Amino acid sequence: MVNGAGTADGAGEAEGVAGGVGLTALLVAAARAIETHRHDPLARDVFAEHFVHAAPACAGWPVRIQQVPDGDANPLWGRFARYFGLRTRVLDDFLLRSVHAGARQVVLLGAGLDSRAFRLDWPADCVVFEVDRAGVLAFKHEVLDGLSAAPKAARTPVPIDLRADWAAALTAAGFDPAAPSVWLAEGLLFYLPSATETHLIDTVDRLSAAGSALAFEVKLDKDLLEYRDSPLYTSTTQQIGIDLLALFDREPRPDSAGTLTGRGWSTSVHTPFDFTRHHGRGPLPEENDALAGNRWVFANKPRP
Ligand code: SAM
Repeated sequence: MVNGAGTADGAGEAEGVAGGVGLTALLVAAARAIETHRHDPLARDVFAEHFVHAAPACAGWPVRIQQVPDGDANPLWGRFARYFGLRTRVLDDFLLRSVHAGARQVVLLGAGLDSRAFRLDWPADCVVFEVDRAGVLAFKHEVLDGLSAAPKAARTPVPIDLRADWAAALTAAGFDPAAPSVWLAEGLLFYLPSATETHLIDTVDRLSAAGSALAFEVKLDKDLLEYRDSPLYTSTTQQIGIDLLALFDREPRPDSAGTLTGRGWSTSVHTPFDFTRHHGRGPLPEENDALAGNRWVFANKPRP
């Protein structure tokens, strides 16, 4: 077991993976582990289960669907985990498309336990920047170092809180705003204060040369509480003690896709279900669905 910086002792907990929003990174890792071991995986992440096994906070969490007594009928480890598997696949494809179109800098905002630097086949001159809080990245490094995992691209951790001056930290770490980049905010924006999201989108726009791309996830719901009794939220609270509604920021959200469109980016907005249909597997709409307002936004800054 690895405690990283995220032990349950006061200041450490706010930073690491033992609790608060940091623990959501482990939820996604467990979901990726389950997806990886399926007979028909949408994405494969061989590192994911090691994060789960290394974290005391995940004691008893499954890493295979066969370890879940009710299997795919379980709202958390069945449908919600498959959602994360689908999201991983769709955003893997987006990132690889973007680097093949010319971007060589990949910036993972709120990177959490994303192991893309280690598992995707990047062009040789690609650099992956991972921005998250220090405790989360410290835990991640400890686990990956223990596995002697080798990144498939140059990899630069940028340990900082996204409410601080992360643009300065990113450029100090070697990011070049004059060169095209591809940005990802996966499972991140709804945890941030609305003003922080606005600032983040402004900053990505400012640091993006023509030919850059951005993908991000939002929740459209004006009233998240409408789904407070959904199987997805209640199972996540009851089975692993993560109350997502308590972690989400409840302020009205900015229209980030609209902002980017207004600044000349070409944007497209998709439901996850669009991709379920495309791939032939994944979650489909249901009654009282906490995923109903989730949207995946793809944005490209055109070349002149
Ligand atoms: N993007 C990763 C993925 O999909 O696997 C992680 C998603 S996890 C649900 C949310 C991540 O956002 C966590 O790693 C958390 O530490 C990070 N995060 C949330 N608020 C943050 C903040 N203010 N500054 C930096 N990172 C933050």
